[in-house]
Amino acid sequence: MTDKYQLDTLAVRAGIERSQFGEHSEALYLTSSFVFKSAAQAADRFAEREQGPIYSRFTNPTVKVFEERLAALEGAECCIATATGMAAILAMTMGLLKAGDHVIVSQSVFGATIQLFVGVLKRFGLDSTFVSATDVSAWQKAVRPNTRLLFLETPSNPLTEISDIAAIAAVAKKAGALLAVDNCFCSPALQKPLELGADIVIHSATKYLDGQGRVLGGAVLGKREVIHQGVFGFLRTAGVTLSPFNAWVILKGLETLKIRIEAQSASALELARWLEQQPWIDRVFYPGLPSHPQHALAMKQQKSGGGIVSFEVKGGKDAAWKLVDSTRLVSITANLGDTKTTITHPASTTHGRITPEARAAAGIGDGLLRVAVGLEALDDLKADLARGLKA
Ligand SMILES: *Cc1c(COP(=O)(O)O)cnc(C)c1O
Repeated sequence: MTDKYQLDTLAVRAGIERSQFGEHSEALYLTSSFVFKSAAQAADRFAEREQGPIYSRFTNPTVKVFEERLAALEGAECCIATATGMAAILAMTMGLLKAGDHVIVSQSVFGATIQLFVGVLKRFGLDSTFVSATDVSAWQKAVRPNTRLLFLETPSNPLTEISDIAAIAAVAKKAGALLAVDNCFCSPALQKPLELGADIVIHSATKYLDGQGRVLGGAVLGKREVIHQGVFGFLRTAGVTLSPFNAWVILKGLETLKIRIEAQSASALELARWLEQQPWIDRVFYPGLPSHPQHALAMKQQKSGGGIVSFEVKGGKDAAWKLVDSTRLVSITANLGDTKTTITHPASTTHGRITPEARAAAGIGDGLLRVAVGLEALDDLKADLARGLKA
C-alpha cells in the first residue's frame, strides 16, 4: 500500500485489517491477552513461527494499525509504538546502545531529553556530548571512535533553529553511527527525515499526531533490521508500551494530521509576519520568515514553517508575563500541537530548571514567549495577543 498512495490517502487508509465483522472504522481491541486454538498454536506464536497477537505488552492489533499507518506516513519499514515520546527515546537508546558508547546530541533538544541523557543514561555508562544544532562542523569534531548515535530535533524548541538533516546524516554515516531525528514539530506531513538520510525517526505522538491534546504516545521508526531486534526487543521485555486506547485515539488524529498542520502552519506564518510589524517586539523566531537565519534550509527540508512561533517582547520577564496574563483566549499551558492555541514563557517553565547562564547561552531570553498556533480564527488570536502587547 505504501508505494502506491500519497500521504493524504495513507493517513486515512494505511494499516487497516478488518475483523470478521467488517467494521469500517478501525477496531479498538481493549484486551490484555489473546486466546490460542491449541497448545501448539500458542507455542508457534511465542516462537514467531506464526504471526499473530499474544499479549498487549508487545502485540495488540489496534497498536499495530497505528504502527503501520505511521510507518507508511514516514516512509519507514518498521515502527514501534511507545507509551510517550520520552519512552520512545528511552526504548531507542536502551535497545540500540550499551555502556561505553558515546552519543552526540543537539544542545537544543527537548528539556526532558537532555535530562534523560545526562541524569539517567549517564549512570548506565552512556556518554554524551552536546553540540550546536546548526553548526555541522561541531558535530564532526565531536565524533569519537565509540560514537554510535547522533540525535537532533528540528525545528528546535523554542527558538525554531533548523539542523541540516542531510549534512548531519553524512557525518553519522562517515562515523559508522546512526542519526535519529525527533520529528515532533513538523510531523511527516511537513518533513520526512528518513528521505533526507536519517536512520531513525522519533515521535511524541502526544503533540501533532493526536493533535487534540487528549492522550500521550510515542514511536520509534526506521529500518526493520535496526528497529525490530533492538527496540522491539526492549519494549517486549521492559513494557514501555502504548495503550490500545491511546493508539486508537492517535489513529483518528493521523487522519486529519495534514489538514490540521497545514492550516496551523499558514496561520503561524501570518501571525509571525504580523508580530514582526509590532513595535513591542524585539525579534520573531519562525522558519517561514525570510528573517530566520536558516530560512533557505528550512524551506528545502520542510514543506512549510510549522505551527510554532516564538518571539522576544521588549521589557523582559515583566512584559512577557504581562502579555501572558492579559490573554483571554489562548491557553497558558506547556503543551503544543493542539487545535487550541497555547502560550508558554520558556525561561520560567520548560527551561526553568537550567541555570540562567545556560539559558542565556541557549539564546532563551527572559522576554521570550512561545506560541503553538491552533485552529482558531487568526484575527481572534491577533486580537488576544494585541491586548497583551498594548498592556
Ligand atoms: C513533548 C516532546 C517530547 C516528549 O514527549 P512526551 O510524549 O511528552 O513524552 C519529546 N520531544 C519533543 C520535541 C517534544 O516536544
